[in-house]
Amino acid sequence: MHSLKPETGTPKIFVVEDEPEIGRLICSSLEEYGFRCEHLATGRQLLARARQVAPDLCIVDLGLPDMDGMQVVRELQDGSPCAVLILTGRNDVTDRVLGLELGADDYIVKPFEPRELVARVRSILRRYQRAAPAEPAERSIASFASWRFDSNQHTLIAADGSETSLSSAEAGLLTALLRRPNKILSREQLLGERDVDPFDRSIDVRISRLRRKLDDDPQNPKLIKTVYGAGYLFSCQVSWE
Ligand code: CA
Repeated sequence: MHSLKPETGTPKIFVVEDEPEIGRLICSSLEEYGFRCEHLATGRQLLARARQVAPDLCIVDLGLPDMDGMQVVRELQDGSPCAVLILTGRNDVTDRVLGLELGADDYIVKPFEPRELVARVRSILRRYQRAAPAEPAERSIASFASWRFDSNQHTLIAADGSETSLSSAEAGLLTALLRRPNKILSREQLLGERDVDPFDRSIDVRISRLRRKLDDDPQNPKLIKTVYGAGYLFSCQVSWE
C-alpha cells in the first residue's frame, strides 16, 4: 500500500477530465458523498498536482488534450502511487485490459451513472485500507547506515555508542522517513497534514537539524535527499527491530 493514509479523515480524489461539464458532474457527485475532489483539465496538471499533494485516488479520462490517459496512469504509478479509476468513452477490451495491467484499480465506461461511480470509488478505497500494513508498533528501533534510532526514546545512537537526543518534532520526522525509505515523501506526508502551506519552512528547518545530527553534509546529503518540487527521500536501507 501506498500514499493512502487510512487514519486521515476525508479521502482526497483528483479528477482529470478535459470536458468541464463532466469534470463538474464527477466532483459534485463525489462531494455529495463526502469526498474531497479536485478537478484538473490536463494530464500534466494532474501529475504535477499529485506530486505536491498525494491523492488517495485519481479518476483518469483516457482522451486528454495533452497526453494519453494511459501514460498518465503509468506515470502515476512511478511517482508516489495512488489508487486509479479509469473513466472513459472508449469501450474497447484492449484499453480495458491495458489500463488494468498498468495498475488501474477499476474501469468505467461513459456514459456513467454517478451513483455507480461513487460505489466503485468507495469499494477501491476500502480495498486499499484493508491492504494497509499495520504500523509495526512493537518495532521501535531502526538501524541504517552506521546509526541506530530509538523512536520511543527519541535517541540517535552512533556506531561508537554515543547518544544524541532529538526533539519530538525531529524524531517524528525521522520516524516518517525511516518508515518509508527510498520513497519520495511530500511535505504533507512527512508532517502528517494535508495542504501544507508551501511557504511554511518549518520542515526544511527540521530537515537541516536532522542532517546536522546525522553528520549528513547539507551541501551534498547522502541520507536525506531533497527532491526539488516534490519533497524528501531517505536514501538508505533501513531495518526495524
Ligand atoms: Ca476526454
